[in-house]
Amino acid sequence: MRAINNRGNKTMLCADLNWLPHSLFKGITYPTVVLEEEEKEQSYSGYYTPGTGIITVVPTSTVASTIAHEFRHYLQDLNGICVGSNFQEGNSYEEAIREYFLTQPTEMDALLFEFSYAKDWCNDWWLRKLVLNQ
Ligand SMILES: [Zn+2]
Repeated sequence: MRAINNRGNKTMLCADLNWLPHSLFKGITYPTVVLEEEEKEQSYSGYYTPGTGIITVVPTSTVASTIAHEFRHYLQDLNGICVGSNFQEGNSYEEAIREYFLTQPTEMDALLFEFSYAKDWCNDWWLRKLVLNQ
């Protein structure tokens, strides 16, 4: 079941997060997951808005890993860790990815979290690039 919020986006209900281990939700409020329509050449697959408990995701093929990634930012936020991030374009894609994750500990933490709970071709490829430099 899906509800529509006032911005016209679809709001996923709590059930959409139930594939994550229940232990992760101990003592916290479920975040709200909002679906945003995919636009051409979109440069992000999701984001977490600090202080709101709202995770926005674009429903692409890697939506599970995006939810896991943004959920980790939600947990970071609950723990008082600042979760702003900065993606520098202009370099090659691989350089930009390397810069993004290696200079921002909260992003690396979220990447490792999504890899643990929702491994897919994308986070697998990124981690191989970042860690093994393959
Ligand atoms: Zn992130």
